[in-house]
Amino acid sequence: MKTLSIHNPATGTLIRELPCDDAASISAKALAARSAQPAWAALPLAQRKDCIVRFRAAVVDELQALAATMTAETGKPISMSRNELNGLLGRIDFFLAEVDASTATQTVFHEGGMTEQIEHVPLGVVANISAWNYPWFVGCNVIIPALLTGNSVLYKPSEYATLTGLAIARLLHAAGVPLDVFVLCVGGAAVGTALQAQRIDGLFFTGSYATGAKIAQTLGPRMVKLQLELGGKDPTYVCDDADPAIAAASLADGAMYNTGQSCCSVERIYVHEKIFDAFVAAFLDTVRGFRVGDPMDDATYIGALTRSAQLDVLDAQVADAIAKGATLLTGGQRLPGNSYAPTVFTGVDHTMDLMVEESFGPVIGIQKVASDAEAVALMNDTRYGLTAGVFTPDEARARAVLAQVRAGSVYWNCCDRVSPRLPWSGYGDSGMGLTLSTYGIQTFTRPKAWHLRQA
Ligand code: NAD
Repeated sequence: MKTLSIHNPATGTLIRELPCDDAASISAKALAARSAQPAWAALPLAQRKDCIVRFRAAVVDELQALAATMTAETGKPISMSRNELNGLLGRIDFFLAEVDASTATQTVFHEGGMTEQIEHVPLGVVANISAWNYPWFVGCNVIIPALLTGNSVLYKPSEYATLTGLAIARLLHAAGVPLDVFVLCVGGAAVGTALQAQRIDGLFFTGSYATGAKIAQTLGPRMVKLQLELGGKDPTYVCDDADPAIAAASLADGAMYNTGQSCCSVERIYVHEKIFDAFVAAFLDTVRGFRVGDPMDDATYIGALTRSAQLDVLDAQVADAIAKGATLLTGGQRLPGNSYAPTVFTGVDHTMDLMVEESFGPVIGIQKVASDAEAVALMNDTRYGLTAGVFTPDEARARAVLAQVRAGSVYWNCCDRVSPRLPWSGYGDSGMGLTLSTYGIQTFTRPKAWHLRQA
């Protein structure tokens, strides 16, 4: 049997060896999930909600240990692991509060003997193939609303966050979700491929564009509902009337939080020439204060890169930027513990990979612009479109700029922010995903149309 070796990325030590799924076990799991789904869907919604309430309570009880597990397998600084778990509680609360109203049958017409209704029926069996960078967030954005709405879920966590996946499964099962309704699938790309070959009613994917595109090619002709939440190269523009120190502190955090490994990390910054120097000085001040170190240490801000292959990507972006004439202000090299020095460039432009390809690390380019129009053109010069932001005290100006930017989420005087109340989606190569908000509950259902004529 194949095994999955789980290493601590910061120390290189082997944490655990787990048996992997294969094509035969995935096929058996998918069949079991299909048999179990109708009974789960037939339960009153209140009973499914009770399971999720118990799951939430267990996350609270075990929060410290769950955070330590996530940090050990991903290298995420421990304070950020705790933040993620605490943030998860608010997301669960949102789903619990909104699921009844979002999925209640609506009577949309009633006249004479004719009634028209929309019923929200579960999709059936859904697969969730997930990423490692926020494993509780991105996993539960799918798992919780999918279960609440009566689906069974085949969950494949990233091979870099499988211990967290095991914890999610253990807590859901202990909370009363039947074993065959929430099913963990262990392994890497081969297990993800095996999942696509099953009879499934939806596939919800979070990960890279490259993998998302492969999945779309496979599943497109099979008419399986597909949601793909992919990468980004998210820009922020700092206007000439912004406070450079406030904008710099916020954007340095937005670029480097979670060691820069967020789908909505700030990945490009455009600053008006009038405040460029003041902004860069304040940005460097903040970045130089970021403590790099042991992810288990509470004081650590920059932890380990989860995948060591990303160090090669960062090295290549740094070398390319330098070769094309960019100015390296700080960082630019690997550090012990699979980490990377917080890295800041000026003198950058869009001929450089650093400004057009996802970095997914603590590396950022700051480009000078002369006008709002130039900033908008540069912000839109991307194949992605997940988030974008503007810093200015002038709301009308911010709205005018953001209205022209192709991005699923836009930010005024903030960045790197996700709210359970708002839909999470992207343009272009950021994919065709839609989670969170009431849309992110309804998306796990099919709107069934009832035409009812009284005899
Ligand atoms: P990845 O594409 O390498 O892997 C994602 C998942 O797909 C993993 O579980 C992996 O095992 C699986 N997989 C790999 N090849 C597969 C295949 N051929 N068929 C089926 N499954 C396969 O991505 P990653 O490194 O885990 O995540 C980082 C990426 O995710 C970044 O680009 C980031 O921006 C993106 N991301 C996006 C969001 C969002 O909400 N838009 C959130 C988090 C991360």
